[in-house]
Amino acid sequence: MPALDDILQQKLLVLESKHQRRTLKETQREDGIRVLRNGKELISFSCNDYLGLSKHPEVIAAGIEALAEFGAGAGASRLVTGNNSLYEELEARLAAYKGTQAACVFGSGYLANMGTIPALVGKGDLILADKLVHACMIDAAKLSGASVMRFAHNNLDHCRMLLESNRSDHHQCIILTETVFSMDGDRAPVEALRALARHHDTWVMTDDAHGLGVIPRHMSSADIQMGTLSKGAGVYGGYVCGSQMLVDYLKTAARTLVFSTGLPPSVVACANAALSIIAEDSDLVALPLANARQFTSLLGLEVAQSAIVPLVMKENEKALEASALLEERGFLVAAIRPPTVPENTARLRFAFSALHEPEHIEELVAIIKEQGWAKEQADL
Ligand SMILES: *Cc1c(COP(=O)(O)O)cnc(C)c1O
Repeated sequence: MPALDDILQQKLLVLESKHQRRTLKETQREDGIRVLRNGKELISFSCNDYLGLSKHPEVIAAGIEALAEFGAGAGASRLVTGNNSLYEELEARLAAYKGTQAACVFGSGYLANMGTIPALVGKGDLILADKLVHACMIDAAKLSGASVMRFAHNNLDHCRMLLESNRSDHHQCIILTETVFSMDGDRAPVEALRALARHHDTWVMTDDAHGLGVIPRHMSSADIQMGTLSKGAGVYGGYVCGSQMLVDYLKTAARTLVFSTGLPPSVVACANAALSIIAEDSDLVALPLANARQFTSLLGLEVAQSAIVPLVMKENEKALEASALLEERGFLVAAIRPPTVPENTARLRFAFSALHEPEHIEELVAIIKEQGWAKEQADL
């Protein structure tokens, strides 16, 4: 029998031949946009810390205070002894911000999806997921045991068709989508999906990972509003907002909440400080989208709908080369490849921060024009 390492080496070689092998690169984030790699300072367009809150003095101070008062770890799952007093504040803040009755905080966004979806649907139920939803929604859908069908990206007609032909064969049905799509930066027609869902006795669940702190606050009609505290809020942790009944149910039925340790108290304290800034500083929150729009306007691309803008280059190799060229010129822009995105849609993905200066964007745009990358975009 071949040794474990031999088999794994074979697997890695296959990935390498497809330019799909990934490796970790040590990166020191100096602030919201400046990072150090191999001793070189780069302006990053690949951080999800859209508002720079991971380095905000008030957020850090809140964490230090909680670390001293509560210690390093939660000590147990929330249902046992890990549910310190900071959680109540965080869940109240989240519910108030989203305009829902209640909120439930999980260990991460990934854990929120993995706990929530299988708690709501299972064998005999139906999941309709947008073609481009995040891997953790798909993993959760598979784990649930429900039938999973995918509708073409943001395509209401396709979703309706799937409902009309399949809804009646199943008990419960849920539609999964994202408020802001993480690799394309476009937004889902949430209210239209909700109207369609209502017609077919179906729930809608949204993943707002890239919306919080970036997309102007609005009340959503989605039944289940999931998100993360690791991006716009700059900290860590996941959440689900919705009715009090939904939250009460998840706190007893979501296995990733029940069987996993609570967040470190300092992380919860940082999230509280970050949310208070997001709720109060609307000028700050408007900046990432304004910067993304500056970029798309200078390049003649479609107007940005979020802080994320992709430049699709198709081949993995091409995206990797473009990313390497940008790094040489002082910019960190990740190349995103399959399986994160569909085959033949490898891309540069730009994430705009409140901290980017006009000069950063202008310099980046000059390189993109010089390389003709945006022109190719229009031809796709
Ligand atoms: C990042 C992300 C997640 C996972 O959130 P974490 O808190 O990082 O685990 C879930 N969904 C989407 C769309 C994301 O982009």
